[in-house]
Amino acid sequence: MDFKVLPLPVEKMKDKIKDETQLGFGKLFTDRMLMVEWKDGQGWCDARIQPYGPFSMDPACAVLHYAQEIFEGLKAYKWADGRIALFRPGMNARRFNQSAERMCMPAVPEELFLEGIKQLVSLERDWIPTAPETSLYIRPTMIAVDPVLGVKPSDHYYFYVILSPVGAYYAAGFNPINILVEDHYVRAVPGGTGEAKTGGNYASSLMAAQVAKKKGFDQVLWLDGRERRYIEEVGAMNMFFAYGKRIVTAPLTGSILSGVTRDSVLKLAPSLGYTVEERQIDVNELMTDIRNGRVTEAFGSGTAAVITPVGKLCYKDECLQLTGGRVGEITQDLYDTLTGIQTGRIADSFGWVSFIE
Ligand SMILES: *Cc1c(COP(=O)(O)O)cnc(C)c1O
Repeated sequence: MDFKVLPLPVEKMKDKIKDETQLGFGKLFTDRMLMVEWKDGQGWCDARIQPYGPFSMDPACAVLHYAQEIFEGLKAYKWADGRIALFRPGMNARRFNQSAERMCMPAVPEELFLEGIKQLVSLERDWIPTAPETSLYIRPTMIAVDPVLGVKPSDHYYFYVILSPVGAYYAAGFNPINILVEDHYVRAVPGGTGEAKTGGNYASSLMAAQVAKKKGFDQVLWLDGRERRYIEEVGAMNMFFAYGKRIVTAPLTGSILSGVTRDSVLKLAPSLGYTVEERQIDVNELMTDIRNGRVTEAFGSGTAAVITPVGKLCYKDECLQLTGGRVGEITQDLYDTLTGIQTGRIADSFGWVSFIE
């Protein structure tokens, strides 16, 4: 598949990264972006790699009013030998199309998705940082651009990909975070859009996150939308709890996101000597198990921060510390192994890594 590469005028070229340790997350973008359009009756057309920058949209655009939008998140790593690696990008391509289907948007052929990303990242390879904990974050996005206020699926879409050199997702880096179990607001309900990576899920989560932040928490942990009783997930991470060497996570029941990192933990953990279990986790039982010391560690999994240790979990009036507020052994082991595979320090026996020419 060929993408037209539009010229990059010198005045559109940005200053290169000055200090890779100060990148933060998603604040800086590279020089170019991928843009493809879909029109009813015509399909995908006009695939091009163009200078990064604002594009014009009609103020009546469907995405701006009714949030017909989906996105993905994956990373490219520059290995010590100079090769550029992607981690399980096919999973993102498939999930993108599952989200598209739920939001009545056209599927992006996997080859278009993957080749587009590979050609864009290849052109932008000089933007991939190499300091520890850094990578190039890739954000594929699709938006509905019909300039019509009637509520209906659009006849015209933009699929675009932007790239951001990133450091640690949390300012504190790989350190335990504090989590509040949200018992009032809910993120998703059975039959809703919780399983899709779609913007509206995040808009509706902002209020709870803001209230929690004011109380000193880093994230909220969502409970199921029907009974507010079963553990679902955190804003952009799936959750795991270690009962000794047994690692437990909530099942994919339709209202939580099917994380690539979650799936990788479930496949990787047995090879490190842990057993894994997907089952419903009652928050009251979880609190009891933490109190009794049966739950020894908790961590989140997601592309942005890979593995995030949890130091404290609060529900209603009770706050419980996990692993003495330190990083647990299993959490550290999974973090080291997963990031090791992603960056080429550890051999990939799962076939998860693919390279960009
Ligand atoms: C993206 C995301 C995750 C993590 O998925 P990964 O594929 O592991 O990055 C978890 N929960 C939500 C709500 C997400 O949006």
